[in-house]
Amino acid sequence: MGNTTGISVMGVFCVDTKIIKIDMNSCDFDGKGKEDDRVVEALRDSLKEAGEIIREGGLVAFPTETVYGLGADAMNAEASARIYSAKGRPSDNPLIVHIADVEQVTQIAAEIPRSAQAVMERFWPGPLTIILKKRPEVPKGTTGGLDTVAIRMPSHPVARALIRESGRVIAAPSANTSGRPSPTKAVHVWEDMKGRIPMIIDGGTVGIGIESTILDMTEEAPVILRPGYITREMLEELLGPVTIDPAVAGRQMPVGIRAKAPGMKYRHYAPKGQLVLVEGPEKPVIEKINALTKEKEAQGCRVGVIATDETLPFYDADIRRSIGSRSHPETIAANLYDILRESDALELDYIYSESFFEEGLLDAVMNRMLKAAGYHLITL
Ligand code: AMP
Ligand code: MG
Repeated sequence: MGNTTGISVMGVFCVDTKIIKIDMNSCDFDGKGKEDDRVVEALRDSLKEAGEIIREGGLVAFPTETVYGLGADAMNAEASARIYSAKGRPSDNPLIVHIADVEQVTQIAAEIPRSAQAVMERFWPGPLTIILKKRPEVPKGTTGGLDTVAIRMPSHPVARALIRESGRVIAAPSANTSGRPSPTKAVHVWEDMKGRIPMIIDGGTVGIGIESTILDMTEEAPVILRPGYITREMLEELLGPVTIDPAVAGRQMPVGIRAKAPGMKYRHYAPKGQLVLVEGPEKPVIEKINALTKEKEAQGCRVGVIATDETLPFYDADIRRSIGSRSHPETIAANLYDILRESDALELDYIYSESFFEEGLLDAVMNRMLKAAGYHLITL
């Protein structure tokens, strides 16, 4: 992945990208759960320079438990603007503001309803983002022009240590070029951001692998704007009925409805080849994918297959990967973006994949896969 001084490239952006490696074995963080405060404090020493970059308005990519984030001082509009230009992100797509300690919410949110308080107590630190009304001090350059703000307290100790060390709240979208799959490893960030940002903090592979659940709490009834690791069922247990924005719920491309999270309207997570999802009973799905593979290979196309641990040996394609095990849905979420990125590296023309239409975490996986496939789904 290059040495610690990084490389420089010619063009609009031209900086050396330094990589700071954090040995996560030294703290027993499982990549998902809550972490002891002492671990967070111990990590701050390695992040002094990173904290300084944030305070000066610069960008630092860092691991969270969901995906890698591209961070900047959220209260500094110029710093936020640098995120948009490094990612090539449309300026109406707001950023999530990350905090290390729950008290920091009051710097950002104008009102904190009791229900939001309860959600924070139950799910923070963790993979849940809450939308609240913003304080006037939060620049609109961070919120995509909105009067509301997205807030999350990540559980990853490196993320929390960086936020504390910087003394700021940190705006951070996923650290990929806009439109590419989100990064789940530092090498993915390197692929997209080398020469564009001064620092990447490498904390190894992330635990969850898909972005946070987004819950809008600005209206009377809570609405999920993006599904994630924290599921509707988990939220309903605490809050009563929770709805899902219809723009992110269906199997078909939403037509005539506008997603409430501005970012959800963009074609995200797209591999360069055409991803096609096949749904149905196991045997017919395997037969269909093998037939499609044969047909496209005969036309001289490069074809890859996304299988599961349970089905991998039954596919004929030369390039086939298991995305994980159906008995362990978290493995499927964790490998999704790495597999999509690999399909680009292999220059595949077609990628045929099994589908995972199930409640809970796999529902969040399918939300990403359907978008990546441009809703190209074959139902048997
Ligand atoms: P990313 O950080 O790249 O995972 O994207 C952040 C997501 O949060 C995007 O889909 C945004 O549209 C959404 N988001 C951020 N702030 C708000 C907000 N104030 N209201 C609605 N959605 C938001
Ligand atoms: Mg993103």
